[in-house]
Amino acid sequence: MSDCVFCKIAAGEIPSKKVYEDDQVLAFYDLDPQAPVHILIIPKEHIGSVAEITVENSAVVAHIFEVAAKLAKVNGLEDGFRVVANTGKDGGQTVPHLHFHLLGGRSMKWPPG
Ligand code: AMP
Ligand code: ZN
Repeated sequence: MSDCVFCKIAAGEIPSKKVYEDDQVLAFYDLDPQAPVHILIIPKEHIGSVAEITVENSAVVAHIFEVAAKLAKVNGLEDGFRVVANTGKDGGQTVPHLHFHLLGGRSMKWPPG
């Protein structure tokens, strides 16, 4: 997607503070952190949101969760953390490229606002 900001970050056309990268996924620090640790994990391939996950493209989602578990460990989140995928208008999604927020380093509230 040529006008997608996270596709541009994945392609290196927009800079980001990378924390992990492989052939399928990229993880980078959120510009506007909501917790002491706030990392975004995205597939390099454009998928619009959780609502666009299908049997054909879902393997990368399992890989993203493997990466989330590793990054949680590396960042010392042994007391817990939250993985969030805001989806669509009611879900509060602002960037229409699938991304998972890895949030940790503080106690989280439930339910979310
Ligand atoms: P969401 O609102 O769930 O779609 O999450 C989008 C997230 O992307 C927000 O937390 C933003 O702060 C973050 N964000 C937007 N643009 C960038 C960027 N260029 N680099 C890092 N994070 C970004
Ligand atoms: Zn994209």
